[in-house]
Amino acid sequence: MAAPVKRDRLFIDNEWRRADSGETIAVANPATGEVIGTVPKGARAETASAIEAAARALPEWRRRTAQDRAAHMLRLHDALMDHRDALAAILTEEMGKPLAEARGEIAHGAGFFKWFAEEGRRIYGDIIPSPWADTRIVVSKHPVGVVGAITPWNFPNSMIARKLAAALGAGCTMVIKPASQTPYSALAFGDMAMEADLPAGVVNIVTGAASEIAAEMCENPALRKITFTGSTATGKKLAAQAGAHMKRVSMELGGNAPFIVFDDADLDKAVEGAMISKFRNSGQTCVCANRFLVQSSVYDAFSEKFAAAIAELKVGDGAEDGVTQGPLIDEDAVAKVEEHVADAARKGGEVIAGGARHALGGAFFQPTLIGGASSDMQIFRDETFGPVAAMFRFETEDEAIRMANDTEYGLACYAYTNDLGRAWRLNDALEYGMVGINQGLISTEVAPFGGVKASGIGKEGSKYGVEDYLDVRYALFGGLGR
Ligand code: ADP
Repeated sequence: MAAPVKRDRLFIDNEWRRADSGETIAVANPATGEVIGTVPKGARAETASAIEAAARALPEWRRRTAQDRAAHMLRLHDALMDHRDALAAILTEEMGKPLAEARGEIAHGAGFFKWFAEEGRRIYGDIIPSPWADTRIVVSKHPVGVVGAITPWNFPNSMIARKLAAALGAGCTMVIKPASQTPYSALAFGDMAMEADLPAGVVNIVTGAASEIAAEMCENPALRKITFTGSTATGKKLAAQAGAHMKRVSMELGGNAPFIVFDDADLDKAVEGAMISKFRNSGQTCVCANRFLVQSSVYDAFSEKFAAAIAELKVGDGAEDGVTQGPLIDEDAVAKVEEHVADAARKGGEVIAGGARHALGGAFFQPTLIGGASSDMQIFRDETFGPVAAMFRFETEDEAIRMANDTEYGLACYAYTNDLGRAWRLNDALEYGMVGINQGLISTEVAPFGGVKASGIGKEGSKYGVEDYLDVRYALFGGLGR
């Protein structure tokens, strides 16, 4: 197949369609501010058609053997890898991240199809010893049915991939609604699905009005589950709406990750981890470190090394060679970052590096380091979602744990220490779904990704991720004669 291009139609039942209204949404390149195209503004009717198509495709898709589904999924993996460069270019154009990161994301996304192709073949049941003579209890797992996926702009490919792959492996069909900022990476899955010979209706993609598409997903009885990645505020609304119709939900929401540096840590490794955890994707990931808690005795040494590493970052258009920091997604994102920095400065924080919009203008912001941060600052409470690292001092392990857990969120956390006992104590005490000990990068398809507290419900990736797309049933076989 020819390299994928920016599709400007909805993908429903293996066909490219316009919105009924003919209306469109403009898509911009955040590095230049230029409009790079439009996509249809789909609404309830188009979502209903997509759900119908997915429901029509479901019986045949779920009946197939896991091996058969796996064969298609492996082709989807190969299609993504074959078109990796073209897909990465589309991703960078609409989202802004450096091309190297975009290429990494495509491979990460593709990895989920391989993983869940294999995992789908291991959906085992159980036989439970029965309390009654003459009977057997058999437990089996079944696909939940048609799934609606609502996805964010920060990982336009891999956030779809890890939902779609788990769904396909489990035998579900899907309707995807991508973020309006990054629809082209989503629509490219239409071409990838065709290249993998997926039957019509197994994958459908509807761009457009979020609240209308979500309302149809929640209310349409043919759709059985909603999986969402995005902000906690939107997730809470959506979960309530889905709950009113007793739809299952998986919610991958915001975080407020602490990154704890103890005086027994390898500071160079800690800085390396801090850079990747904080500045990857210009700070726009839900597992990005948001609060650097640094033990007093190493605070100055860590701060100095961290500032030196930050000075090496190269800000620019993600499509240019050597750029490590792209623009933020849009003006709202820049305004939020600016507000967090101003709030910290007002409350006594010291701006050690950056602190303002970048000379490139538009959605570019300087990589920023703030020292002497305190818990009354906004940055302690809310996810900044931008390239700002704020350092807080602590004295004791207990204090660090208390500060780390002092948030409604519980997605990812990080701690650097060379004391094995302390590492285990932290793993037990930190109220987070994911803990990186001496590691700043934790995302992989083989491990369960997901949060606790206000960071969400459910797991993605790993052997646990497929369970989110399965219903457990039990059958009691009676009258067996003995
Ligand atoms: P962000 O702040 O990262 O853009 P959102 O939670 O607003 O996070 O967006 C994540 C996804 O949720 C996007 O696809 C967006 O279009 C969608 N979305 C926004 N508002 C709603 C809503 N009321 N109901 C359902 N989905 C929504």
